[in-house]
Amino acid sequence: MIKNKKYQAYLLNNFKNLRQVQKYLTREEQYVIDVVGSVLPFKVNNYVIDELINWDNIPNDPIFQLTFPQMGMLTKKHFGEIAHARKMNNGDKEIIANRIRYELNPDPAKQNKYNIPSLEGTKLTGIQHKYDQTVLFFPSHGQTCHAYCTFCFRWPQFVGIDELKFASRETELLVDYVKENPKVTDVLFTGGDPMVMSTSRIESYLRPLINSHIPNLQTIRIGTKALSYWPYRFVTNKDADNLLHLFEKVIKKGYNLAFMAHFNHPNELQTPIVKKAIQRILNTGAQIRTQAPIMKHINDKSEIWSTMWNEQVKLGMIPYYMFIARDTGAQNYFAVTLERTLKIYQRAFRKVSGIARTARGPSMSAAPGKVHILGINEINGEKVFTLKFLQGRNSQWVGKSFFAKYNPDAIWLNDLQPAFGEEKFFFQK
Ligand SMILES: *Cc1c(COP(=O)(O)O)cnc(C)c1O
Ligand code: SF4
Repeated sequence: MIKNKKYQAYLLNNFKNLRQVQKYLTREEQYVIDVVGSVLPFKVNNYVIDELINWDNIPNDPIFQLTFPQMGMLTKKHFGEIAHARKMNNGDKEIIANRIRYELNPDPAKQNKYNIPSLEGTKLTGIQHKYDQTVLFFPSHGQTCHAYCTFCFRWPQFVGIDELKFASRETELLVDYVKENPKVTDVLFTGGDPMVMSTSRIESYLRPLINSHIPNLQTIRIGTKALSYWPYRFVTNKDADNLLHLFEKVIKKGYNLAFMAHFNHPNELQTPIVKKAIQRILNTGAQIRTQAPIMKHINDKSEIWSTMWNEQVKLGMIPYYMFIARDTGAQNYFAVTLERTLKIYQRAFRKVSGIARTARGPSMSAAPGKVHILGINEINGEKVFTLKFLQGRNSQWVGKSFFAKYNPDAIWLNDLQPAFGEEKFFFQK
């Protein structure tokens, strides 16, 4: 139910604020949140607490797992170290937290090394460009979210490991960059979550882009989880109507506006306010495509995915990607083996109509590209994974398939070896 109260977020981003949910949590659970939350980011708001989490079902509730730090997210060793530092209270806590963070592979796909482009010798730190057609833009005021996902691969920027933060206010540089790179058709606003910004701020980023008449620019994408974490952004926020007008303006200018909405579980699609928000966005002429990673404790069941894709289609959205948990942060806690992920995807795929079979995956966003797991096959007596590049650091790799030795324990690309006695995968040569 939409409650008749001020649609203002109250945030829980440190332990002192946990009062609002103390009634739901034992002392032990609060202690764990405090300890794990001092290494990994933690932030949640009243919508998530009051409307999404079923407190009769914790700790198993998927949205509780999605937003609240859990014991298993740190190894026993790391948990012990940070718990000890907290007890000593001698100022070491932050130093130890940072050391642990660096041990959690904070830059998994080497985005800092490879993906940051330059223009006339200047490094464009707010831009990442990995695949020919799509440029990612990180507006500096959009580098936070309404709540944080416990598995987030962008987690380092929320805990203040500054050199891992990409941000820029320089829309002008973005415009120049897109002009100079005629293969680029898409600009994807991302973060964080650009929908945390005020409408006037969003407009200041979008206006130069849509007014510059860049012939190659076709689609403006907005990556967001605001439909899950703060749907009021599109309905009752003071500047919600202006935001929708802005979307209409982008479309009137002749651009395709696509929301890349992040939904992890069908429970995020049930409230009247999220349905209303979706409807309002679609009414502007924008499209909403949906994507999410598959995560143990949250959504590692085929019924969850088939239900979610069906609900999304019913609400007018287009399922787009199923991702695999990245090799960073609390990966051990969330990882599902590649084999099991494939089975879950295939079972869900069989249960929905063709209209909902637009979700590609399961896919790994790894350093060489987006790697699609197509199947497990037996070829010449050898059991193999059949894989294919959906995107590649080298555009010649896109669409190419390749084979890896079957490995039932593999959870990521770097657990795989080439099949048929080859020494290297073709993209490593
Ligand atoms: C996924 C991704 C994109 C967009 O890829 P599409 O397949 O076009 O949606 C762009 N850049 C990076 C770095 C990505 O990971
Ligand atoms: S909404 Fe996206 S960027 Fe924000 S915490 Fe979740 S996964 Fe990370």
